[in-house]
Amino acid sequence: MGQKTRHILSLSGGKDSTALAIFMRDKIPEMEYVFCDTDKELRETYEYLNYIEAYLGKKIIRLNAAVGFDHWHQVFGGYLPSPSMRWCTRQLKLKPFEEFVRDDPIISYVGIRADEDRVGYISHKPNIRTVYPLKEAGIDYAGVIKILEDSGIGLPPYLKWGRTHSGCYFCFFQKPIEWVRLLETYPEDFDKAQAYEKVTDQPGKTFTWIQGMPLSELRKPKNVKKIKRRYAETQERYYKARGNKTLVEVLAELDVPTREPTACLICHL
Ligand code: SF4
Repeated sequence: MGQKTRHILSLSGGKDSTALAIFMRDKIPEMEYVFCDTDKELRETYEYLNYIEAYLGKKIIRLNAAVGFDHWHQVFGGYLPSPSMRWCTRQLKLKPFEEFVRDDPIISYVGIRADEDRVGYISHKPNIRTVYPLKEAGIDYAGVIKILEDSGIGLPPYLKWGRTHSGCYFCFFQKPIEWVRLLETYPEDFDKAQAYEKVTDQPGKTFTWIQGMPLSELRKPKNVKKIKRRYAETQERYYKARGNKTLVEVLAELDVPTREPTACLICHL
């Protein structure tokens, strides 16, 4: 007899993977829900996971409980991860997931929506088959919001203060305006993020979250003002071009194009 297939859904604390978990709850009772914890997630994410857990009536298995970001930061000699050097995703999200699934036959459920063109993390491990139930069911952005609202779980709470994605509070994928919001909402987290940076005169020895802009500079009132102004100007241009938006769209900044690199799906879905 062949090995039994395991069903695994990896939550990120973001709206799409949460909606997927709600959508799948009664379809696959043996689903295993996991969350790869960097130990540096947004404080609201931990709270949000508790609501999800209560709704699912099942424990969300936390991976990495003992070895979080700081361990790997040390192993990488203080080198901060960046869009081109995402050691954090590899060590704290992908690896723990693959260790958890072992060599068992797996169906991995990923929350890509019907209105999205991107692909999620697809393991090259031959025992993992990835499926996209939201996409397959034609569930788009509005559908995800409806699932979250109907369940009573609602949108991730960090959207209220303007953070647009789940993940670490210091994630290098966040936009300058999100750094400003972090500074204004949770200054102690901004200070902690800043403490990871190392600014020196020696080439190759400077580590900052944003290339060329240490947080010690970003936080200066004149720079905060500049970032806010630039953001307001971009918003205004797009409001004019796109007409009325719903509150949810505003919060999620869905229609504001960005030149930032594509964020990491496993952390942010
Ligand atoms: S949220 Fe950002 S910093 Fe955290 S593990 Fe993912 S890519 Fe890295």
